[in-house]
Amino acid sequence: MDYKASDQFQDLQYFGEFGGVNPSISDSSTYTFLSAKTMFDTFEGNTEGCYLYSRHSSPSNLYLGEALAALEGTETANVFASGMGAISAVILQLCSSGDHIISSRTIYGGTYAFLKNFLKKFNIGISFVDITNLKAVREAVCDETRLIYCESISNPLLEVADIPGLSRIALENKLPLVVDNTFSPLSIPAAKLGADIVIHSLTKFINGTSDAVAGAVCGSKDFCLSLKDVNTGAGMLLGSTLDSLKAASILKNMRTLHIRIKKHSHNAHYLARRFEEDGLRVVYPGLRSHNGHSIMQKQMVSEYGFGGILTLDVGNLSRANALMELMQKRNLGYLAVSLGFYKTLFSAPGSSTSSEIPEEEQAAMGLTDGLIRFSVGLDNNIERTYLNMKACMLELGVLSEKTALV
Ligand SMILES: *Cc1c(COP(=O)(O)O)cnc(C)c1O
Repeated sequence: MDYKASDQFQDLQYFGEFGGVNPSISDSSTYTFLSAKTMFDTFEGNTEGCYLYSRHSSPSNLYLGEALAALEGTETANVFASGMGAISAVILQLCSSGDHIISSRTIYGGTYAFLKNFLKKFNIGISFVDITNLKAVREAVCDETRLIYCESISNPLLEVADIPGLSRIALENKLPLVVDNTFSPLSIPAAKLGADIVIHSLTKFINGTSDAVAGAVCGSKDFCLSLKDVNTGAGMLLGSTLDSLKAASILKNMRTLHIRIKKHSHNAHYLARRFEEDGLRVVYPGLRSHNGHSIMQKQMVSEYGFGGILTLDVGNLSRANALMELMQKRNLGYLAVSLGFYKTLFSAPGSSTSSEIPEEEQAAMGLTDGLIRFSVGLDNNIERTYLNMKACMLELGVLSEKTALV
C-alpha cells in the first residue's frame, strides 16, 4: 500500500495582524472580555474562538496544533511544552489508579521510566511486551487494560510497529492505540494506519533546529478537548504549556519538514547501505536485512523514505566512545543525544538515552553497549561523509581493510 503524502499542512494559510505572511505571535498570558457572561461561558468551554488564559490555549499554539493535525490527518491536535509533557498528559488522562497499560518494551528511556517507575505512585500496572509479536500483545490484554502504547519506529532499536495489526487488537478490546511517531513524521502516517492518538516530540525532526523543546498530541476533538478541560484535563492541570514564541518558531520550521525528511532518509539509507557492504552490524529499516523492512514498506509514504535514524553495533562501549569522539573531532557530527538536526548526532543509547532501562533488560531486548545511534544529518555530499567515517573506523580498528574490501 502506498499512502498519499500527508503534507496538507502545506496548504494551511495564515496571515498576521497587519497582513504579514507569518501569523502574529500572541504576546499575552491573559485575554480581556467585553462581557462578564462571555468569560463565564469560556470557562465552561462553551465559547469557541475565545481565549481565556494562555495555559488553556493561545492563538500561536492553536496555529501550530492545526498544522500538526493536518500533518497526521487527525481532527485536531494540542501542543505541549515537551514530548514528555504530551506523553505523561495522555497517559494520566486515560488511566486511573488500578488500571493497566500494555507498552512496547523498546521505547524512549524517559517514557520507559515514566511508565515503570513514576506510575507506581498511582498503582498503575504495566506489561512491557515485544511489540512485533502481536500474539503477545493480544495475550497481555486484561480487564484493567486502558491503552496500548508503542513507537512507530522504536527508540533506539528501530523495531517497526505493525500499526494496522495493533489497531485491530485495540479495536477488538475497545482500547485506544497510542503511537509515538517522533522518529517518522511524514514517512509513517500513524493515524491513517489506525492509531487513535499520535504523539510527537516536536523537539526532534519536526522543529529540526535543536533550539526548542516541545510536544504534541494529535487525535479526536473529544480527546483533545478533554486534555484541556479546566476541571479534569491533564494538559490544563499538569501545566506543561508551550510558550507562544516557541510555537511560532516551530511552525515556521515545519514548512521545510518535507524537504528535510527526504534528505535525512536519503542520507541515512546511503550510509546504511555502505556500512552493510563493509560488513558492519548496521540496523536500518530500509535494509532488506531488517526484521521490520516489509512492514515498514507496507505502511510508509514511500517518497519520504525509511527515516533518518540508523544504529551501528561496534562491539563494545569503549570502541563506541572512541569512534564517536574521533568522528566529532573530524567534524562529521556531534556526540549528543536527540535527533533531527541538520548535523549528524550520535550517542551510545545504552549509557545515555536508554540508561533508565536496567542492564539486564537492555540485554534481553538486544540493546548492546557497543550500539551507536546515528541521527543522520542533511549533509549535501553524503559520500564524502561516508568516506570520512570509514577512515575513522579503519584508524580505530572498528573496520579492517580486509573486511572493508569484502
Ligand atoms: C525525545 C523523545 C521523546 C521525549 O521528548 P522531549 O521533547 O524530549 O520531552 C519521546 N519519544 C521519543 C521517541 C523521543 O525521541
